[in-house]
Amino acid sequence: MAIKILIPTALRQYSQNHHSIQIDGKNVGELLGNLTEKFPDLKKHLFSEDGRIRNFVNVYINDDDVRYLHGNETGVKDGDVISIVPSVAGGSGAAKSDFSKAEIERYSRHLIMPEVALEGQRKLKEAKVLLVGMGGLGSPLSMYLAAAGVGRIGIVDFDKVDFTNLQRQVIYSTNDVGKPKLQAAKERIQGINPYVQVDTYETRLTSENALQIFENYDIIIDGTDNFPTRYLVNDACVLLGKPNVYGSIFRFEGQVSVFYAKEGPCYRCLYPEPPPPGLVPSCAEGGVLGILPGNVGLLQATEAVKLIIGKGEPLIGRLLLYDALAMKFRELKLRKDPKCPICGENPTIHALIDYEQFCGIGTPEDRVVILAENEITVKQLHAQMTTNGGVFILDVRQPHEYEICRIEGSTLIPLNELPTRVNELDRLQEIVVHCKMGGRSAKAVKFLREAGFEKVKNLKGGILAWADEVDPSVPKY
Ligand SMILES: [Zn+2]
Repeated sequence: MAIKILIPTALRQYSQNHHSIQIDGKNVGELLGNLTEKFPDLKKHLFSEDGRIRNFVNVYINDDDVRYLHGNETGVKDGDVISIVPSVAGGSGAAKSDFSKAEIERYSRHLIMPEVALEGQRKLKEAKVLLVGMGGLGSPLSMYLAAAGVGRIGIVDFDKVDFTNLQRQVIYSTNDVGKPKLQAAKERIQGINPYVQVDTYETRLTSENALQIFENYDIIIDGTDNFPTRYLVNDACVLLGKPNVYGSIFRFEGQVSVFYAKEGPCYRCLYPEPPPPGLVPSCAEGGVLGILPGNVGLLQATEAVKLIIGKGEPLIGRLLLYDALAMKFRELKLRKDPKCPICGENPTIHALIDYEQFCGIGTPEDRVVILAENEITVKQLHAQMTTNGGVFILDVRQPHEYEICRIEGSTLIPLNELPTRVNELDRLQEIVVHCKMGGRSAKAVKFLREAGFEKVKNLKGGILAWADEVDPSVPKY
């Protein structure tokens, strides 16, 4: 009686590429014996030295595993189909990303989770993720994505590490201060996981290079801190059809979402236009709790991993708001805007634009221009103070900044209080106004000149320049 035996793909090379073979026999043992007699190369793959079926090979009669019938003694009848099912590494992509013993060990806590398992880990290994910005968000993002086994991580930044970064950018150590961020970050990422390929782009992301850089990656993660780059990242992702994992931070508050125009809204659907320059302070101006970018960056990392392994509910069409002071999460539903200029029904944006201009940066109405004769350098001020001392130094920063550092003998009137306290100042005296870097004091100088103060000057570079060039004991913040 001839019985049909199905040969699995992995073993066909030993059966002259037959998919199925008709073999005579009364029971399973006899059938397999006759099969391996016909194709001797199959023998060592099916049987161990002592003649038993190998542990990693299962034999089925129709739908039943013979181990639960009578093993080799299991009888066969006309019409039965025998299947040989060896264990394989799983799926057709097996050969591409096999894991070494060391990798299996490294990722074992993922591999034992059914939601990730070998299949998910393989997807992580094959994933290509780009991080735009290696600051507060990029630090935890890159470290955890590397640890999780994301195979290729691109990082874009052009800064050097400085002391003010260390409060939150935990990828950098004190010894890295002064080094290019990408160099320090790459070393750290590869220290965490040498199996990760790290691509570095030591450049400012621009409309000229964004599409070319993004093209190489599956997922883009926005870890930037300014509006022009946010819109640039969004538009490049929409044009290329890639998901943009968004995160933003300010003081104690964070926002996270996944903008993926193919399946939901984009950043422009949420914010069609940027706020006017100066309305929303940056973290450098307004501060940020050092832990916050850790929270937000790891929410972004979680979303990225979910997108890669294809599990769970991504934050597409949802904006997650996090308030660390209240320790509360809220969620807003986001809708795709049919009028969105880039992902709507009739898009008007078909290529990347000038984002600095779009965000109104560098336009004259925001920048107060001070004539050169109304400016004074820190060296000039210092010389004037030591020779005649008759200069009144007005500090227009906030009281908490004044507490950090001050120029000896200066008087504090915060910029916002200046209009109501202007009568405290003497119009006849020479006044030098300063702030942290020179921007707010320029506004104060403009205000005072319009109010009739003629002997008022702006200190170029603010107290930071003072610390650099005159008094190194003054801390920089
Ligand atoms: Zn949109």
